[in-house]
Amino acid sequence: MTNKTLLIPLLLLWANLQALEKKALPNDVRWVTQSKEYSSLCTQTYRLAEQTLLPKLKNAGPGDAIVMDLDETVLDNSKYQVERFRLNLGFTQESWSEWVVRREAGLVPGVKAFIEKVRMHRVKIVFLSNRMEYNLEPTRANLAKLGVLAKDDLFLLRRNKEDTKQVRREQILQGKGRMKKTGPLRVVAYFGDAMGDFPDEKEKWLGEKFFILPNPMYGKW
Ligand SMILES: [Mg+2]
Repeated sequence: MTNKTLLIPLLLLWANLQALEKKALPNDVRWVTQSKEYSSLCTQTYRLAEQTLLPKLKNAGPGDAIVMDLDETVLDNSKYQVERFRLNLGFTQESWSEWVVRREAGLVPGVKAFIEKVRMHRVKIVFLSNRMEYNLEPTRANLAKLGVLAKDDLFLLRRNKEDTKQVRREQILQGKGRMKKTGPLRVVAYFGDAMGDFPDEKEKWLGEKFFILPNPMYGKW
């Protein structure tokens, strides 16, 4: 191929990238990154959780826990979504893993104030996420950078396909598997952005024991 024939596709690619850079973000990503409604809804959920849970936590002991999902519940990955859109590419496991290793996720609005208040009580926080377990260290580092990590926090990240959230939730309640050393825990509340973050009887416990955050960017709908 001559230099000239190479130049044309390169110019086209450049023009394409320029156009994508200027193109408005899709509604879902724009809503999360730019709207006051998204941040207000998140803050509202965490304030409701404070009002509901903090009085109950006064008598909490070391056997009590709060189970929190990570992505789009504690960690805000909208920057990854913006980057993929600008590249005209979708989600891939490889690009997601590279993003996790960068430790650049932000915080979901309202979560830091909530976690700080929870830490005044003797309740454990279990982060139950489908991030892969081999990404535990960058995940912990990202949380530490954001000021929401404590040394007693427990992490149950995903090991393989069989290691579902339901399997890990049972380990928490029964003190089995990876939770053998800790022993069984009583779960005071679950936090997530997807229905799969909650055990059964999902609607019955909304706003009492189950607290949901908005995420229009991805999910199993
Ligand atoms: Mg999530």
